[in-house]
Amino acid sequence: MRILSQFFAAPVLAFAGLLLLLAAPASAHDPEWSIAIHGGAGTMSPERMDAETRAEYEAALQAALDAGSKVLAEGGTAMDAVVAAITLMEDDPKFNAGRGAVFTWDGVNEHDASIMDGRTRDAGASTGTRNVRHPILLARAVMEDSPHVFLSREGAEQFAAEQGLELVDPAWFGTDGRREALDRYKAAQMEEQGMSQLAIDTKFGTVGAVARDSNGNLAAGTSTGGMTGKRWGRIGDSPIIGSGTYADNRACAVSATGWGEYFIRTNVAAEICARMRMKGESAKVAGEAVIAEMGALGGNGGVIVAGANGDLAFAFDTTGMYRGRADSEGLNEVAIFAGEDGGEDD
Ligand code: ASP
Repeated sequence: MRILSQFFAAPVLAFAGLLLLLAAPASAHDPEWSIAIHGGAGTMSPERMDAETRAEYEAALQAALDAGSKVLAEGGTAMDAVVAAITLMEDDPKFNAGRGAVFTWDGVNEHDASIMDGRTRDAGASTGTRNVRHPILLARAVMEDSPHVFLSREGAEQFAAEQGLELVDPAWFGTDGRREALDRYKAAQMEEQGMSQLAIDTKFGTVGAVARDSNGNLAAGTSTGGMTGKRWGRIGDSPIIGSGTYADNRACAVSATGWGEYFIRTNVAAEICARMRMKGESAKVAGEAVIAEMGALGGNGGVIVAGANGDLAFAFDTTGMYRGRADSEGLNEVAIFAGEDGGEDD
C-alpha cells in the first residue's frame, strides 16, 4: 500500500506543480505602477555621441521619468503621470516636441499631439498648432473639455485660448540646430539629390509616455513637431489615435516614434494592443511583431508599450531610441542605444 501511494504521489505532485505554474502570472513581477517614456528613435551610434551630450540626454530622460514616477508613487493617475513626463520634454530643446520642434518647409514649427485614457478609451488630439506651449495639454483639453477627439490648426489654437492654455510667441519653439537641419534638407532637395527627410534629421526626437497606475488604469500620450521640411499641411502618426498613440485597459498603452507615414499605414499602436488583447501576446512580442511589419514596408522607428499587468517593453528597428522606464518594484533605467537596457525582463 505504501509503495502504491508513493507510486501515485509523484505524478500527482508533478501535475499540481504544473497547474500552479500555469496559474502564475505571465510576468516575473507584477508592479503596482509602471511608466515608460521615449524621446524619439533614429540613427545614432555611441561613437558619434560625445560623453557630455550623452549625459545631457540621460539627465533629461531621467528627469521626465522621475516626474512621471513621482505622480504614480504618490497614488496619482496614469493620465497625470503621462502628462507630467511629456510636458517636461516639450520644454526641453533637445527633443522634437514643443521647444526644439523641427521646422516645416515654410520655416515655422507646427505641433501635433495626442493622448488616450485606457480606462474609458477617451482620446484627444491636435495638429498643426503654432503657439500652444504644451500641445499635450491641448490634446488632454480636447479629450476632457470638448465633444471632439481631433482638432486642427487655427481652430485648435482658438480652443486652446478659450481653455486658458498657455500661448507663446512662435519664436519660443525655434532652435538653431533645427533651422540648420531645415536648411540642409532644402539644399539637398534643390540639388535634386532626392535626399529623404530621414537622411537630414536622422533621429526623430518625438516624445511620448505610457503608464499604468495603482488602480490598474493605463494611459498613453505622444507629442511632436513632425518631420523636418514637412509641407502641404502634412500630418504624421503622432496625433492619430491608433497609429501614434493608443491605450486600452484590456490590453496595453502604446506611444510611437518614427517615420509617420509607415506608422499610419500599419496602425501601429492599435495593432499592438489588438495582438495583446486577442492573441495574448506579451508587450515585447506584440511590439516587435508590429515594428517588423512596419519596417517590412520600408519605414523605421520604435514604440514603448505598457501591458495591462504593468509590464514595460521597448521595440525599435533603429540603432537607438531615447528611452526610460521605472516601476514600483525598483526598476529605474534610461538608455539610448540598442541593447543597452539593464533589466531585460520584458
Ligand atoms: N512620428 C513623427 C512623425 O512622423 C516623427 C517622429 O517620431 O519624430 O511626424
